Amino acid sequence: MLGELKALLGPRVLSGPEKRVYRYDAILVGPEPLAVVLPESREEVQALVRLARRFGLPLVPRGAGSGLSGGAVPEEGALVVAFTRMTRLELDPQGRTAWAEPGVTTARISEEARPFGLFYPPDPASWRTSTLGGNLGENAGGPLCFKYGVTGDYVLELEFVDAFGEVHRLGRQAYDLPGLLIGSEGTLGLITGVRVRLLPLPRYRATLMAAFPEVGALAAAVSQAIAEGAVPARLEFLDPTCVGAVEDYLGMGLPRGDALLLAETDGDDLEVVQEELSLVEETAASFGARVQKARDEKEAEALWRARRAVSPALGRIRPKRVNEDIAVPRSALPQVVREIQALGKAYGLIVAQFGHIGDGNLHPNILFDPGREPEEKVWELAHEIARVALRHGGVLSGEHGIGLMKKAFLAEAMDPDTLEALWAVKGALDPGGVFNPGKLLP
Ligand SMILES: Cc1cc2nc3c(=O)[nH]c(=O)nc-3n(C[C@H](O)[C@H](O)[C@H](O)COP(=O)(O)OP(=O)(O)OC[C@H]3O[C@@H](n4cnc5c(N)ncnc54)[C@H](O)[C@@H]3O)c2cc1C
Repeated sequence: MLGELKALLGPRVLSGPEKRVYRYDAILVGPEPLAVVLPESREEVQALVRLARRFGLPLVPRGAGSGLSGGAVPEEGALVVAFTRMTRLELDPQGRTAWAEPGVTTARISEEARPFGLFYPPDPASWRTSTLGGNLGENAGGPLCFKYGVTGDYVLELEFVDAFGEVHRLGRQAYDLPGLLIGSEGTLGLITGVRVRLLPLPRYRATLMAAFPEVGALAAAVSQAIAEGAVPARLEFLDPTCVGAVEDYLGMGLPRGDALLLAETDGDDLEVVQEELSLVEETAASFGARVQKARDEKEAEALWRARRAVSPALGRIRPKRVNEDIAVPRSALPQVVREIQALGKAYGLIVAQFGHIGDGNLHPNILFDPGREPEEKVWELAHEIARVALRHGGVLSGEHGIGLMKKAFLAEAMDPDTLEALWAVKGALDPGGVFNPGKLLP
């Protein structure tokens, strides 16, 4: 079988020690795959699927491996299909669209669209490395998603190879089949191309930072500001642990001990942009926050640098972390952030919370040292955090997906009939169970 693979892709089949690198995503490690293949065209992907079908080999699609739920982590004996060589990107500035192969990195679309006054809004914090295929697999979001929506909201057409090796290029009229593949975590087909919508760049932006003495007050202010009609482009929060970590890392004069809200409004009418920011400012002040508006682009950029530094900064506190990802109704935010804080204390583990709070999307990060803190306890706490979200009418994943990490929790989040319906969809599209087996569905 390896011989046939090599005849097909030559040196783009990795079966030596280098395949070990593909055991990981950004949170979990799996066994070594049988081999890793690096296709360069949809025709090669078709041939791969047919070959895998013949030999009964599982296929694990992979982009950059920056996923945070184990979606691209292989199982024993699987063939990893890494899409990082499929990187063709064609812009149609007049039609305000772009056609991208799955290995195109997220940031590249906006970079290439900028000279035409356009941008591609979905902006996961990993956007310099994450790929369109992975973004589609997880239906990735990012800071801009509160106002602009997530990956799936920008898909006009999707091309994928099905379990029989056939290519389909589908729009979203009639049955929304692309919608079924978006967020399916590589379990229904292999995405080989996508046409996305681009938007004109807004002319104005305004940014503020609000420092709250307590996390719950911050969450309550966000919920109220949005209820009153504020639609900021970005609404991000950092709890005091994150603020302290970023301050230790960058030393930029952030208020230690406070929880921070960063808000940005944007649009083509300066007056409206400033009015919207004032609405956030007044609401934050009424909840006891000290507000500081960025005076220019440079100050605004410094604030967003603080947000981007959260991940590396937390990595300096403990060597390992589990990055949880829940989404809850905004009205439940104050209670949820407080309950998670209390859980961290009860377990004697550091839990740092940040996230796209405008969407009710929180990333409680459990920081730990495997030498001192048993990993089972960490996963138990992660499970408890997921239960907090479910108790408050939320969902298990805001944007990172279910993958391997949350598969066991899914049965608690869904009734058996819904789960059965999902298995029926999987059975209809992937009857032999070739695509990413063992992921997503319990
Ligand atoms: C520091 C950091 C910050 C992050 N910030 C965010 C954030 O703000 N928002 C957010 O949503 N996520 C975030 N993530 C998570 C991650 O970057 C996203 O889930 C991203 O979409 C994964 O892209 P990838 O190319 O790395 O995909 P991978 O991890 O390689 O794969 C992800 C899933 O997609 C499937 N897949 C990949 N390619 C294909 C294909 N061609 N066809 C079918 N299925 C495919 C895989 O099987 C897997 O299930 C962050 C991660 C890190 C490490």
